[in-house]
Amino acid sequence: MTASRVLVLNSGSSSVKYQLLDMADRSRLATGLVERIGEETSRLVHEPLTGPAAARGKREQVGPIADHEAALKAVAAELAADGTGLDSPELAAVGHRVVHGGTRFTRPTVIDDEVLAEIRNLIPLAPLHNPANVTGIEVARSLRADIPQVAVFDTAFHSTMPEHVARYAIDAGTAEAYSIRRYGFHGTSHAYVSRATAALLGRPVEDVNVIVLHLGNGASASAVRGGVCVETSMGMTPLEGLVMGTRSGDLDPAVVFHLARVGGLSVDEIDSLLNKKSGLLGMCGDNDMREVLRRAGEGDESARLAFEAYVHRLKKYIGAYAAVLGRVDAVAFTAGVGENAHQVREAALDGLAELGLALDLEANAARSPQPRLISADHARVAVAVVPTDEELEIATQTYALVTR
Ligand code: AMP
Repeated sequence: MTASRVLVLNSGSSSVKYQLLDMADRSRLATGLVERIGEETSRLVHEPLTGPAAARGKREQVGPIADHEAALKAVAAELAADGTGLDSPELAAVGHRVVHGGTRFTRPTVIDDEVLAEIRNLIPLAPLHNPANVTGIEVARSLRADIPQVAVFDTAFHSTMPEHVARYAIDAGTAEAYSIRRYGFHGTSHAYVSRATAALLGRPVEDVNVIVLHLGNGASASAVRGGVCVETSMGMTPLEGLVMGTRSGDLDPAVVFHLARVGGLSVDEIDSLLNKKSGLLGMCGDNDMREVLRRAGEGDESARLAFEAYVHRLKKYIGAYAAVLGRVDAVAFTAGVGENAHQVREAALDGLAELGLALDLEANAARSPQPRLISADHARVAVAVVPTDEELEIATQTYALVTR
């Protein structure tokens, strides 16, 4: 029997999301998450997707789960109860989403002690994310030391950005000393969606230039030329670029000095303000686009303004990336907002006919879980809605590496 299953783990600061896939047919065997780790009301939701267990549906437990180790052990117990436990000889590898790979990691990497130490060294660049990723790796290694554990980096797809794109125009020595450059994030999603868009167009990825708009709670744009990322909107951290659910995106850096000098805020307070209390939430009190749209529709002024600021930033990036690419074949919308909010897609592309962008408004408004084209027949540039699948991409990259 060839081992063909891959467990994908996405460990956040207080959560673990997971999927078990069978790469023989790219099917999903189970999915789930543990949230509020470390609290009294931790919650584990496990959903078996095949076999007799699937017929019984989702299982949920609420109660204290102290840490990531306990969380992963609880997940392992759920998988074992379905007959798909981590001890199964069919498990080929564990694929870990790791947020920051710095300049060191530009492709998926089998994790050994040295790689783990390097991921730990990158914690100063991603203090909110890499620590949880490290813990997830440590626990998974302790549960199955005999199979490969693979790190798939959120930054890797963007490592092909030319140097003059990745660099900030600051003192070169300072940039070097503190690893200050643009890394970009959501890379697995941008990689998956740019390829899926070429497939939707029925063209080889090498021939297609795509602007990918990943609009979830976090949001980023990328310019992908022939499958290779040449520009992206997130920077040294995920704060730069688009207006997001709770992040400001682009901002005059002097705002930070002003808040410190005049407002008397500490660095940590400004960090929290810009990452957690800005964006849609900061402008109107809601970070969920559904609420923003509902309120704006009822005439709420701050919600309307937040929506317009969100869409305006998006439009600026589409224009900028059209200039960067020179020729655009497709614009692809993905993630929670991109896949679902037809109002955002319509407003972002409104007035861009000169760039060859025009929507079929009926196709845009129709809902579907499938990748689909929503551009008008006469439009020069295709517009696509392509549901992202980061877990499948992580599993695919992991499996390709361990079966090479
Ligand atoms: P993600 O980070 O990709 O899971 O996206 C989460 C975000 O998608 C939520 O915060 C919502 O703002 C947005 N979203 C999800 N469903 C819808 C919908 N039907 N309409 C508008 N926005 C949505």
